[in-house]
This record gives sequence, C-alpha cells and structure tokens, in this order.
Amino acid sequence: MNIPLVDLKSQYQLLKHEIDSAIHHVIDETAFINGKYVQTFENEFAKAYGVKYCISCGNGTDAIYIILKSIGIGQGDEVITVANTWISTAETITQAGAKPVFVDIHPYYYNINTELIEKKINDKTKAIITVHLFGQPANMDVIQELCQKHSLLLIEDCAQAHFAEWNKRKVGTFGIAGSFSFYPGKNLGAYGDAGAIITNDDSFAERVRMFANHGALQKHNHIIEGVNSRLDGLQAAILSVKLPHIYAWNKRRQNNALLYNKLLNEIDLITIPKIDPRVSHVFHLYVVRTPHRDELQVFLKERGIATGIHYPTPLPFLKAYKYLNHSPDNFPIAYLYKDHILSLPMFPELTENQIGYICDSINEFFKT
Ligand SMILES: *Cc1c(COP(=O)(O)O)cnc(C)c1O
Repeated sequence: MNIPLVDLKSQYQLLKHEIDSAIHHVIDETAFINGKYVQTFENEFAKAYGVKYCISCGNGTDAIYIILKSIGIGQGDEVITVANTWISTAETITQAGAKPVFVDIHPYYYNINTELIEKKINDKTKAIITVHLFGQPANMDVIQELCQKHSLLLIEDCAQAHFAEWNKRKVGTFGIAGSFSFYPGKNLGAYGDAGAIITNDDSFAERVRMFANHGALQKHNHIIEGVNSRLDGLQAAILSVKLPHIYAWNKRRQNNALLYNKLLNEIDLITIPKIDPRVSHVFHLYVVRTPHRDELQVFLKERGIATGIHYPTPLPFLKAYKYLNHSPDNFPIAYLYKDHILSLPMFPELTENQIGYICDSINEFFKT
C-alpha cells in the first residue's frame, strides 16, 4: 500500500466540478488580480473568523513580514519567537530589520515554552510571534498576559492552525494580528501560493493594506514604500470553494489523530501527541516521537508509507542563525527532539484502513 504524507488529489477529485467551474469563471471575467473574487474571499474569511478585517496577500511568509512592518518593527528591535518552526517566522523578523530571539519548546505540546519567555524580554523587545505548531494552539493565557505586562505586541502565526481554538476562542484573534498561509498542503490550501492577515484594528488594517500594495490605498498615491504582495483571483476563487469544508476537514483530521493515538498508545517506544485539554487541535501534522526515528522512517518507506520531519534542524542551529552563537544547551528540548520527531501521514481523506496499515507496520517494526 502506498500512502503519501499529504494527498491533495483525492480532495480535488471530490470538489472537481466546483473548482473547475470557479477557475473558468475567473478566466472568463479576467478577474486575475484583485477584483471581486479576492474581495469575496476576504469577506468570507473575516466572517468565518468573526473579525473586522481580512487582508489577503501573496503567501504566509509575506503575511508575517507585512504585519511586522505595519506595526513599525525595525532596526534595534527584538522579537521573541519559538526555536522550532518553519523559517518564515524568524526570517521575516530579520527582514524587518529586527533580531529574532528564540525560546525553547514545551516538552509535551511542542509550542513555545511560556515559562521561558519572560527572561528573554528586555528594553528592546517589541513583540512576540507565537506559532500554533502542528495545529495545536500555544498557551494564549500566559502569552497574552506577558504581552500586556510588558507592553508587547502579539502576533500569531496560524499557518498550521486554521480554525484551531484556545479556550473556545479561535487562534489569530488574541493579539494585534493573525497570519495565515494557504500553501496547498495547509489545512485550508490554495492551488499555489496564497496568504492572509486578520485583525480587528482599524488603523493597523489600513497600514497593512497600504504596505502590501506598494504603500498606496489609491492608485498612484503612494504614501510610503511598500511591497507587492497580493492574492490572485484564481486562488481566491478556489479558496472560496474550499472554505465551507474546513470544519468537516478539521474534524476528520481530529478523528484520524484519535484513531492513531488509540492504535499507537500501547507501543512503549512511541510517544503519541498530547492534546492540551484547553484546545481544539486541528492536526495539520500528526507528530510522534521515538528514539529509533531514523530506522523507523526507513522501515516505513520500504512499506510504501511516506513520513516527514518537522523540522530536522531547529532554527537556532541552522547555518542561517550561526551568527547568534547558540549552543544545544540553550534549547535542550528542541535539540533533543530534533532526532526523535516523526510526522506520519495526515490529511482529511486518510482512511481507517490506511491508518490501520501504518500502525500495524509501526507495531511490526518494534516487535522485530
Ligand atoms: C507554511 C508556514 C509558513 C509560511 O507560509 P508560506 O505560505 O509558505 O509562505 C509560515 N509559518 C509556518 C509555521 C508555516 O508552517
């Protein structure tokens, strides 16, 4: 049996008629850039989140960069984020002119360890970017409190956590802004690059829209220099077709995770993901830990099962951040887990049969 890490084809087959027709409409109307499909999706996404504004942009990385620039992050500032995440979260801090300050991960939940944040806050600290990694919200109670106490801006990277909740409140709504990626493999994915920013703040929303559009709100009236980062009509129309399905898809991901947990629970050398009782975890990724990770990965590959590692090198240990001179004992948990974490196939259309086969194979590996 061949099982990919993510299967985008089966979802397309289910929605083929609607998606093909949406694409044809956009082309018929040559609504390629901005225009009604983009506006419609922005309105639908804002409504689904219960926020005042959704400003679309080119991708999830741009979304973070645009937020940082629009809150005035720049030279001499420090922004706190987590050691294990996709590089977008940190490279955009540098691009904005500031310094990324990393915090180790939580030993069970894999997000930023909130107990370690305060000692990294100093006079230069301006913001915290929290990441809801793998689809599980970080501890927003503590992070919000710290931001209030130290007057820091809170940004949420929701690229892996569309519609996930902390204490029944959707992530992306706790701070000044939430950033989203609609990269094809994300829980809500376009058919190319796409991203968005949500916020309830009027003047911030205006600055975001301006910065993403060459610093102009009206054509040729450039108030500042900005960037060109926009969602195109084709992606917007596809996202509008997919958006109504997101709750059902997240539910299926959650059910898949519960089945995995049940079938893997008895294996001593596998640590299954722990779900924080305060969250709705949307399982962008299903990540287990084992000291025999590399051998298990090879074994599963031989059985046709694709797996991934998110991520093989925590950011502080990448060559790109060598200049910060971090050592393993600065981030002991992230450093230890990098050789143990393994992402098993996860997508809404994954069948019980496939999960059964994957878990049987893992069982077999540990028996032999
Ligand atoms: C995917 C991802 C991004 C970046 O999104 P792109 O659309 O690929 O630019 C940022 N942060 C996290 C945590 C991600 O997983």
